[in-house]
Amino acid sequence: MPDTRIRTLILGAGAAGMMCAAHAGPGTLVVDHAGAPGEKIRISGGGRCNFTNLTTEPANFLSGNPHFCKSALSRYSPWDFLDLVGRHAIPWHEKTLGQLFCDRSAKDIIAMLRAEMDRAGADLWLRTEIGEIAHRDGRFHVALTREGRDCRVVADHLVLATGGKSIPKMGATGLAYRIAEDFGHKITETRPALVPLTFDAAQKAVFAGLAGSSVAARVRCNGAGFEEAVLFTHRGLSGPAILQISSYWREGDRIALCLRPDLDLVAHLRARKAEAGGKALATILGEVVPKALARHLVEDWGLSGNLADQSDAALRQLAERLEGWMLAPTSSEGYRTAEVTLGGVATDKINSATMGSRLVPGLYVIGEALDVTGWLGGYNFQWAWASGVAAGRAIAAA
Ligand SMILES: Cc1cc2nc3c(=O)[nH]c(=O)nc-3n(C[C@H](O)[C@H](O)[C@H](O)COP(=O)(O)OP(=O)(O)OC[C@H]3O[C@@H](n4cnc5c(N)ncnc54)[C@H](O)[C@@H]3O)c2cc1C
Repeated sequence: MPDTRIRTLILGAGAAGMMCAAHAGPGTLVVDHAGAPGEKIRISGGGRCNFTNLTTEPANFLSGNPHFCKSALSRYSPWDFLDLVGRHAIPWHEKTLGQLFCDRSAKDIIAMLRAEMDRAGADLWLRTEIGEIAHRDGRFHVALTREGRDCRVVADHLVLATGGKSIPKMGATGLAYRIAEDFGHKITETRPALVPLTFDAAQKAVFAGLAGSSVAARVRCNGAGFEEAVLFTHRGLSGPAILQISSYWREGDRIALCLRPDLDLVAHLRARKAEAGGKALATILGEVVPKALARHLVEDWGLSGNLADQSDAALRQLAERLEGWMLAPTSSEGYRTAEVTLGGVATDKINSATMGSRLVPGLYVIGEALDVTGWLGGYNFQWAWASGVAAGRAIAAA
């Protein structure tokens, strides 16, 4: 079979790959082993896709080089993406903290990206396996198997957009790391992030008893802190605050939970003592945290009696305990449920304005494959859009 000669080959039809294809100019082909493009977009945000965050700043990203993401993010902002969404008449709404979601379905975003690819004249090959890649005479020679048939594509530009390792069931393979490494790039340590945390058997049994309830908390670890909901599950702790802190937590670290950071707990307990001192401590605590959690904490901390029995010092101590509940996760649920992969292709040999390799002319790395990981809340898609556009524009101009 003769070689297919194209200008740009993009590996991965996810968020970053499709966005790049819409900007890379003529002669662009996107290949993916999945049966449909943008599968992670489809399941994201509970099916409604939290497609950006209006508060996006470089500080919302973890990377070996915290400055790396600045250029691309400033050249393609959440407002630019919102403008695109508006041009496609996709209805959306803002949730808390600047998070923008589709009103109808995440499929609107996929359809929009497909339409943008079509407008740009980009081709899409699905059910396509990626084989050997060679770089000769300034071109990339890529062996592909498309729906069972072998072929070879020769391209001037090769874009690695195959994402990270999270959710292997959805087709995540870590392929970009292997290809980038073969071309001499370093890979910073990868680990599951935005992932529920798990605990030893005793703690797990406690949380299983509380499964389904959630509490407002500020969770801290390694200098980071997030104030959102914590959810108790049969496997451990989840909810936005835990997913956020999982990106900072390392094996052996403890996490500190400040329960109900929105309340002045000492003042509240004192007021309740004056109003309802005859009530059991667990009952009063059950007014500020889930009842089952209140019962557990009172028992675990060996407390008993009515509120009226507690001295002011005891109430202060109780408030301090609620504000500094220390827990020791043993692990996380891993790539099986992690929303993203922390780490990836090291940014030191990547041009931050173009996502182009400084080692191999014509090679680009975008999206989650790079060592740039966003917080929960639409930041990861914003990075996928911004890095995809950066590479696409650079390729179009090359
Ligand atoms: C459950 C879940 C919910 C999420 N919700 C949100 C959210 O609401 N907001 C947000 O900002 N982020 C969210 N994320 C994170 C977001 O989905 C990713 O950060 C984003 O999709 C990364 O884009 P990408 O294009 O780099 O990679 P991906 O979107 O993962 O795309 C990679 C593509 O490469 C293909 N591929 C992989 N390996 C190979 C291979 N060997 N051969 C051929 N093709 C291959 C895959 O099939 C895929 O189509 C969520 C993630 C998950 C898992």
